[in-house]
Amino acid sequence: MDYKPLSGREFPRFSAIKTFFRLPYVEVGADYDVGIFGIPFDGGVSYRPGARFAPTKVREISSLGRGFHMTRMENFFEKLKVADIGDCPTVPIDIKQTYERIEKFVGEVLSHNKKFVSVGGDHSTTLPVLRALRKKYGQPLAFVHFDAHLDTYPAAWGQEYHHGAFARHAVEEGLVDPKKMVQIGIRGPLAGGDDLDFVNKHGIRVITVDEVRSKNINEFLHDLPKFDNTPTYISYDIDNLDPSCAPGTGTPVPGGLTTYEVQRIFRALEIPNLVGCDIVEISPPFDQSDITALAGMDAMFEMLHLFVKK
Ligand code: MN
Ligand code: MN
Repeated sequence: MDYKPLSGREFPRFSAIKTFFRLPYVEVGADYDVGIFGIPFDGGVSYRPGARFAPTKVREISSLGRGFHMTRMENFFEKLKVADIGDCPTVPIDIKQTYERIEKFVGEVLSHNKKFVSVGGDHSTTLPVLRALRKKYGQPLAFVHFDAHLDTYPAAWGQEYHHGAFARHAVEEGLVDPKKMVQIGIRGPLAGGDDLDFVNKHGIRVITVDEVRSKNINEFLHDLPKFDNTPTYISYDIDNLDPSCAPGTGTPVPGGLTTYEVQRIFRALEIPNLVGCDIVEISPPFDQSDITALAGMDAMFEMLHLFVKK
């Protein structure tokens, strides 16, 4: 199988059936390196819904995706076999059954020794993905978490599992190593001090927008945490971006990062053993001119280049 996107000369970018980056749609067990799949579920949202529509929208928008990275001077279409492996089954009205299906689906992807990028879905969907990875690799993961929010919130309405609590569960269940975890893009206001107490107690490195901006961007990038060979996962909540760069999201927070700052962070990250990534919290019904979906596609482009062996 030739894992190349459809030609824009043969099928102009507004035409043809939509897959991620116009790549082939293949079976989970095919011979690709990195599979992209959707997790269309937003039953863990506390405010604005709509992330269930993100996989379809990001497929559409990624028709505009191109492969050559001008900073890295390489093309992921040539360096990696990337494919669309479809959507993970979900149950729109039941988070417990959805978690079971996500863990099973990701477990199957991992049973074929694949790397992946998933497109959520709200942030509650990351927890069962991490559970599957923890089983596969047999150790807590190193973890890069882009977000405006800490996502270490307590139960809400008596429900443990929602999109603001996944990071707390991931630490409590031993899925990620809090000492090898960094949260980027964090800012207030917070509902209270509980979530911050949690990250302080576990020694999680929190990078606020203030910290990104308090020095020259090159100095900041130089001081980014370094990663070892521990299996490492990136979870990218689109609301780490300022609402001007990403209005279509569940819980927008003013004062965020710009799309450009995030590109620079991705280009500076050195992750020798990246095993998976996700992009969550894009809500197409609240988007304007698809700019949030475009920002998501751009993050996916940067992530795919992090899978290329240096
Ligand atoms: Mn989040
Ligand atoms: Mn968030």
